[in-house]
Amino acid sequence: MSLMRSVLLAISENRWMRERGPRLWFVRRAVRKFMPGEAFEDMLRAADGLRPSGIDTVFTRLGENVADAREASAVTRHYVDVLQAIASKGIRCEPSIKLTQLGLDLGKEQAYANLRAMAERSHETGNYLWIDMEQTSYVDVTLELTRRLKTEFPRVGVCLQAYLYRTAADLESLINPGIGVRLVKGAYKEPPELAYPKKTDVDENFFKLSVAMLEGLGRKNGFRPVFGTHDTGLITRIQAHAERAGLAAQDVEVHMLYGIQRAEQERLVKVGAVVRVLIAYGAYWFPWYMRRLAERPANVWFVLRSIVRG
Ligand SMILES: Cc1cc2nc3c(=O)[nH]c(=O)nc-3n(C[C@H](O)[C@H](O)[C@H](O)COP(=O)(O)OP(=O)(O)OC[C@H]3O[C@@H](n4cnc5c(N)ncnc54)[C@H](O)[C@@H]3O)c2cc1C
Repeated sequence: MSLMRSVLLAISENRWMRERGPRLWFVRRAVRKFMPGEAFEDMLRAADGLRPSGIDTVFTRLGENVADAREASAVTRHYVDVLQAIASKGIRCEPSIKLTQLGLDLGKEQAYANLRAMAERSHETGNYLWIDMEQTSYVDVTLELTRRLKTEFPRVGVCLQAYLYRTAADLESLINPGIGVRLVKGAYKEPPELAYPKKTDVDENFFKLSVAMLEGLGRKNGFRPVFGTHDTGLITRIQAHAERAGLAAQDVEVHMLYGIQRAEQERLVKVGAVVRVLIAYGAYWFPWYMRRLAERPANVWFVLRSIVRG
């Protein structure tokens, strides 16, 4: 892991920086590249703007490690209301949620009660609920609550991280019950005992897992494979594999983050792949934004240039 990436990830988890970083004007300005705005309406406007290009969306209100039960309930109510609002406007936008935003640090049952309330509204409105994956200490409990939710609601998916050694086994256990999987490389700082330290190994594991996911499609049990990446080389390899396996272009579903690889998103739509863009909003964007910088340290130059320009 590069030094710059380690520093940025350490900053993302530092409480002092989490409080003060968002007040810096140049950081506030730079984050706009990845976020259309802090308000729910900004997210809706951006989702509407993508629709004519044939791109649907995923939404998340930024927040993590919520330590107050009332706040976790308020976040849940917000999601329940948004699910209703997007259904009545006919916007095809799926929610993606972090369990620590729903109160996981306060207790498993509390987080599950909130998650269940969201899933109920998601189900009633015909939506699909995604659960994000956080640091390794949360992986077991996230998978446990996802499996439990799936016994009650049919359209549920979870994120898996290709940098973890354990992911091949986790994937197999999710394909069988038809739980959707959004495969990503992984955004946190993890030790070499648990995660591949070399990026090339992560990329190769991503491809291997993708092959297993495309095979999983054949089980026709509702399993939904999603490739959450901006890596054009990997996407091309996955598409070529899908074609060789006799799958249709629309069997390859790619999710990207707002503001990244726009041209590739349009290219994918043109060749018939399914594309969704994840749009984040909300005031608690600092750790999330630091992880975006860590993914591509060249983004730091963008922030520095913005300071120089004033
Ligand atoms: C829809 C979605 C949901 C995600 N959910 C989770 C989650 O729940 N848990 C989790 O741990 N991680 C999550 N991630 C983040 C993920 O783990 C990676 O950190 C992130 O996607 C960068 O990896 P990459 O696959 O794009 O490949 P990389 O090899 O990092 O990037 C490939 C290329 O994409 C472009 N690129 C990538 N990142 C950036 C960036 N930040 N700014 C500008 N260009 C960039 C660059 O051109 C780069 O060369 C999610 C990512 C996506 C797209």
